[in-house]
Amino acid sequence: MAAELIDGKEIARKKQDRIDAEVQKLKAEGVTPGLAVILTGDNQASRTYVNNKQKTCNKLGMYSMLIELPESVSEQELIRRITELNKSDEIHGILVQLPLPSHINEKAIIETISPEKDVDGFHPINIGRMMTAQDAYIPCTPAGIIEMLESIGADIAGKHVVVIGRSNIVGKPAGQLFLNKDATVTYCHSKTANLKEYTKRADILVAAAGKANLITEDHVKHGAIVIDVGMNRNAEGKLCGDVDFETVKHIAGYITPVPGGVGPMTITMLMHNTLKAAKYSISKI
Ligand code: NAP
Repeated sequence: MAAELIDGKEIARKKQDRIDAEVQKLKAEGVTPGLAVILTGDNQASRTYVNNKQKTCNKLGMYSMLIELPESVSEQELIRRITELNKSDEIHGILVQLPLPSHINEKAIIETISPEKDVDGFHPINIGRMMTAQDAYIPCTPAGIIEMLESIGADIAGKHVVVIGRSNIVGKPAGQLFLNKDATVTYCHSKTANLKEYTKRADILVAAAGKANLITEDHVKHGAIVIDVGMNRNAEGKLCGDVDFETVKHIAGYITPVPGGVGPMTITMLMHNTLKAAKYSISKI
């Protein structure tokens, strides 16, 4: 039997409708949620991501500001720009598009963003708050994964979740969120011996390695929920995930496609975090 498809596009659309309604309410109270995105250099992929973020912001009636800086920008100048945005009343969320030029210390830049405006959820204060299950800005991709699972009514408590990947942006926070929801979590990474032994035991398998076709049918338990975070290009230049969709769909209970799975959720959760930041700014007045 073929797996049920988890339609990220549709789940994201519904979530965006709810965000849109809340944005309209806030605007009626005189506050327009505002997101500032800083783009450094001329990385084509980064530009595409930034354009999509701006488009979604505008679609939902939020204010979006783009600050474009050259590859040669100094760390000091970048810090100065962020400090200005930290003080701005019209900007509630600040996002610095990664990767940064190699001469810039990414850690210093992330730590310059006010934790109250850190809509990517990368600041150590937000990471610490998430680790201790306090209210925090949650990194968008892991937050999107949880939102998707909740929208299909998946049980997480007591389940065995295997996360492939341990990056600070996806793998690590994803595992932590599952742990916060009472799952038993196993992390796998590039040094894991016998990956299959772990993935085969997953009730929920999250693949975030960035390796096309890493997960084949013999990695997956019958009926498992398979979340494919990977965004890779195959030999024909087509976008694909980490999961061999055509074979795994016959084994899994649920599966996310690429494209149209986790991707639309990520951008939607950025809008969710920006709205949350705008609401937070009102609560302080
Ligand atoms: P990353 O920083 O490169 O991390 C990849 C992780 O996968 C690392 O922890 C690495 O292990 C592990 N890994 C690599 N090869 C492996 C293998 N053969 N077996 C097991 N583990 C392996 O990447 P990322 O930023 O987390 O992103 C992961 C993927 O998700 C990428 O394809 C990225 O484009 C995609 N992504 C998608 C979205 C979305 O919205 N859909 C958002 C963000 C990222 P080590 O730690 O040992 O090196």
